[in-house]
Amino acid sequence: MNALLAIYVTMFGTAVGSFLNVCIHRLPLKLSLAWPGSHCPSCRAPVKPYDNIPIVSYLWLRGRCRNCKAPISIKYPIVELITGAMFLGAFLLFDSPVLIQRLLFGCAMVVLFVVDLEHRILPDVITLPGIVIGFLFSFFMPPGWVDSLIGIIVGGGSLWLLGEIYFRVRHEEGMGFGDVKMLAMIGACLGWKLMLLTLILSSFIGSIVGVTMIALHRGDMKYALPFGTFLALGAIAASTAGRLIIDWYASFYA
Ligand SMILES: [Zn+2]
Repeated sequence: MNALLAIYVTMFGTAVGSFLNVCIHRLPLKLSLAWPGSHCPSCRAPVKPYDNIPIVSYLWLRGRCRNCKAPISIKYPIVELITGAMFLGAFLLFDSPVLIQRLLFGCAMVVLFVVDLEHRILPDVITLPGIVIGFLFSFFMPPGWVDSLIGIIVGGGSLWLLGEIYFRVRHEEGMGFGDVKMLAMIGACLGWKLMLLTLILSSFIGSIVGVTMIALHRGDMKYALPFGTFLALGAIAASTAGRLIIDWYASFYA
């Protein structure tokens, strides 16, 4: 991959990230993605095309609305930057058609990561089509439809069962149904092996964050951590380095 192509791919990724920001902002509020155009949440002034350039505009405007000077959240350029880096990484790692599948999957994970962190919800409009599209893709590429189907059933089933047991024992909601659908989607797209790896990695990340927060007294045991956020992190790690992690683990038993 030459340097010029790498730059194009990264720039295209930041533009996609800009669209993901629109999804992140509007999906939880159940607003249309297409209309109206981007505007400042404070003064409602429409964002001019020249102020809508990923990352650059944020820096140029020093993180403030041109019209009312209200601060613009740092999360916008961060999402653009991460999406740009993700596109470059995916282009280096995968060939089409897997590339297309992994990019769609990665974009969904970025949106779910932020939306769960901010709102503690995982919108059905992403997870449900994600299960269907992931399964359909699997007929033409890895992980293959059998692994994908097992991934959906075991992924969704295991979390659903865990939630049921928790509910019977504690008589309260422990696991949201959004997490169940999200893990089923991860199983559909990555297959059951990488889905299990995702579950292990995200539980690991989640417990480290949880223990740290308790240690810092920043929330008691009751404080619900956004498990979908950790699932998204685990899924990105599993989908890029999954093969390496599994081989590394297996090397201890070889
Ligand atoms: Zn404004």
